Amino acid sequence: MFSFEHEVSHEWQRRTALRELSQGRLRVDDACDADFLLRAAAEHHGVDSPRPCPVCGAPMREVKWVYSEKLGRRTGTARSDEEIDRLVAEVGPITVHVVEVCAACKWNHLLKEVTAVPVV
Ligand SMILES: [Zn+2]
Repeated sequence: MFSFEHEVSHEWQRRTALRELSQGRLRVDDACDADFLLRAAAEHHGVDSPRPCPVCGAPMREVKWVYSEKLGRRTGTARSDEEIDRLVAEVGPITVHVVEVCAACKWNHLLKEVTAVPVV
């Protein structure tokens, strides 16, 4: 078991990006640039987002990326909650980035950074 601590939300940046997009100050190509790898990771390792895509309205996925020096080559990879559970049990606290991804228009945004810690 693990829990998330030290949450850093990026909702403000998300709102800013969407506002700039609607005002034409941010190009759609720059905001909606999820590459194949990110879209595949969201499909295979992500979960359904509670929110629709803010750009095109399609259903989105949320995918978690793990980071820690202790993970070695596994740092910077997309993981399911079950896998994060095992990684945290193995190496201790790790940083997790939660990213929302729209497969339809390629919108993607870092929602929050959290630390996954083992629950004892
Ligand atoms: Zn979209």
